[in-house]
Amino acid sequence: MTVRPQVTQAPKPSAVFTPPASSPDDGPAPSAVPIPDRTAESADTPADSASKLGKGDPFPQPRLRLEIRDLDHPGSSKFLSSINISTVFSAAVQNVQRLLYRSPSERHTTCPPTRSVTLILRDMGGVAYTTGTELDPDHKEIHFSLSYINGINPPSRLTAEITGVLTHELVHCYQWDARGSCPGGLIEGIADWVRLNCDLSPPHWKREVDGDWDRGYQHTAYFLQYLETRFGEGTVRRVNDKLRLHKYDAKPFWTELLGRPVEQLYGDYCSTEEAEGGKSSC
Ligand SMILES: [Zn+2]
Repeated sequence: MTVRPQVTQAPKPSAVFTPPASSPDDGPAPSAVPIPDRTAESADTPADSASKLGKGDPFPQPRLRLEIRDLDHPGSSKFLSSINISTVFSAAVQNVQRLLYRSPSERHTTCPPTRSVTLILRDMGGVAYTTGTELDPDHKEIHFSLSYINGINPPSRLTAEITGVLTHELVHCYQWDARGSCPGGLIEGIADWVRLNCDLSPPHWKREVDGDWDRGYQHTAYFLQYLETRFGEGTVRRVNDKLRLHKYDAKPFWTELLGRPVEQLYGDYCSTEEAEGGKSSC
């Protein structure tokens, strides 16, 4: 499901949820996110974004905002005492772009022109989701549950878990979705693959090969990591770029990209895991 902002309606975001760290399978079915439907010719980076480049900080930064809707909530104080949100937010934006786009110059022509990201902390169910604002899909909102933050346990996990969820949601601000046709599981898998490659995977994540390749989240993330290892650094970046250029059609998508159908690739992954002692039922 692709949710796009409605100008005439109050924002009712329901785009993407991240499952709780303690029960990864409890989250709602993954769905596509409101990625701007833009291709290379319209993806120019605004000059003002380019001018924000800092030393050693090659990718343009969007305007980052923080909105805390309930300072009295115990999750708010835990959040504020766990991380320096300014530096963590900026670093996560850089990490996401670095993993999804080869270089700043390439990024200028292939990256969605996200101009601002507002992190909104509020009391709500679930963990977090990302949506465009009601006026402009280039401006993103990440809604993050204060109740979830308050429940992170042990407290020593607060910094890593908050940073991990934030990184996952930021991927949704920068990834492509094949004009709304990409399977939700692949969208979520790419987001967790970035989180995995930022060394922010929670302790409960493990390589499982039960079920289909596009179950999403860490399950698909580990499969993508296998592809990255097998076909070389930049493979997931190529997946993302193909989602920029074309509507998703499974057979040509994977065959053109990696030379064989995704079912075959996933079967290879399962066999490899099985050979290494993992559990397999694919
Ligand atoms: Zn997500």
